[in-house]
Amino acid sequence: MPHSDTDTTAPASYPGTTAPDSFEALGSVPTGLYIAGQWRDSSDTTTIAVENPATGRTLTDIASATPADGTAALDAAVVAADDWAQTSPRYRGELLRRAFDLLTERAEHFATLITLEMGKPLSQSRGEVAYGAEFFRWYSEESVRIDGRWATSPDGMSRLMTMRQPVGPTLMITPWNFPLAMGTRKIGPAIAAGCTMVVKPASQTPLTMLALADLLAEVGVPAGVLNVIPTRMSGAVMAPLITDPRLRKLTFTGSTPVGKDLIRQSADQVLRVSMELGGNAPFLVFDDADLEAAVDGAVLAKMRNMGEACTAANRFLVHRSVADDFANLLSRRMSAERLGAGIDDGVTVGPLIDDKQRGKVAELVTDAVQWGADIATGGERVDGPGYFYEPTVLTNVQPGSAVLREEIFGPVAPISTFTDDDDAIARANDTEYGLAAYAFTSSTARTIRVAESLQFGMIGINQGVISNAAAPFGGMKHSGFGREGGPEGIAEYVETKYVGINPIAAPTA
Ligand code: NAD
Repeated sequence: MPHSDTDTTAPASYPGTTAPDSFEALGSVPTGLYIAGQWRDSSDTTTIAVENPATGRTLTDIASATPADGTAALDAAVVAADDWAQTSPRYRGELLRRAFDLLTERAEHFATLITLEMGKPLSQSRGEVAYGAEFFRWYSEESVRIDGRWATSPDGMSRLMTMRQPVGPTLMITPWNFPLAMGTRKIGPAIAAGCTMVVKPASQTPLTMLALADLLAEVGVPAGVLNVIPTRMSGAVMAPLITDPRLRKLTFTGSTPVGKDLIRQSADQVLRVSMELGGNAPFLVFDDADLEAAVDGAVLAKMRNMGEACTAANRFLVHRSVADDFANLLSRRMSAERLGAGIDDGVTVGPLIDDKQRGKVAELVTDAVQWGADIATGGERVDGPGYFYEPTVLTNVQPGSAVLREEIFGPVAPISTFTDDDDAIARANDTEYGLAAYAFTSSTARTIRVAESLQFGMIGINQGVISNAAAPFGGMKHSGFGREGGPEGIAEYVETKYVGINPIAAPTA
């Protein structure tokens, strides 16, 4: 089964186009800072080397923003804010629709860029482009539906009018694992709502976001509405913006420790904050599950993005009566995956993002084995260039192993067993995280019980992928707060204002 980043179906390739086969073949790729509608160097001319994780070689150098550049980007977003907020919802919606069309037309270009800087196989990058573009289409349709309401007060003495207005200049900080979609999930609703923005992509994967800025300028997004400032000094450049009273919102997707730090920083200005943080998804397989379907779902939930997804299945909890069969089937599938540079045909598993991430994955496997786990398949780094780690299945994983507690972010599937539904639910909820969970069962009663009992923001029943632009993506507990996607996603970018009107005091003529 192909791994799509989403349940948005991406074609094997886009009609009339073929994927460029190298960075050079992509032609011109922007490498500057995008501020106030202009491309510029950083104020101190420092750069970031963007690496291809499949080879360890530098693709290109890009400008790295300084604190002064950060301030310039916020200045631009503040200057543009009032005019942009006054534009019509239809105009903003049509800009988004054009952006969707152009992104889809240039899908091979963007997919190649994603694969080169992030590592995932081209088929999965195409999935990310389809998913990422969908946020532009969805919010192009939502922009004209940002409405308020009108009511009579219960005592009949007043009229209650509510309106929803853009929250204002917004800072968006995004991670490296989905270089396009983690941006469009924020930019789409912000444009629809009429907010201006400063985007800071991850320094490992800034090229996709810079190319997107170019595309948004081409479709007519006005200068200052979107500013993009990659930097290798994240803390030093972001902190002054977060405490600047002109900024009205911070939206962050990334790790829980950095998210907690940003929440603390946001307190001084009582900033509106949304946090899409880490996960530790349980994947439950009950004894009445269709085992083949559960294995298909497991491969998707585990191997999409090489396991480097916040929604990745992190703990496989399997009823003890089917655990051996499930482990055998999953091991067979995992050992048949094809590792290689994502740009090459037929590759299903790319490299991890860097050597540090690969080292963390290797440590988690070593720790699990020390606690008593068995390696059913994989368990080794791959020699040679690039940061490859073998698809791995661990069985007999013991309570106390760090692999059950921490976010793995790699192609490792730890399997442990449960005895009954209460045990399954208790183990699944035994984590500080609360982003995604999966369950495979053929029972409707069990589906309802599990869905109601699991403390996670998103639950997939008999499916290994749950992301969808039309649905509210987000977590509970240490996985954060706020939702991206669906009608809920727009709420993050609007303020609700209420006006009470006394109809009796109004002049009559
Ligand atoms: P990260 O927290 O290290 O970095 C995320 C972003 O924050 C990057 O742009 C980084 O440069 C920036 N950053 C780092 N330190 C900062 C600081 N002090 N001040 C301001 N910005 C700072 O995370 P990552 O390694 O890029 O991404 C992986 C993490 O993201 C995982 O934990 C994953 O679960 C999470 N994630 C969550 C979701 C979600 O929707 N919940 C989606 C994708 C990834």
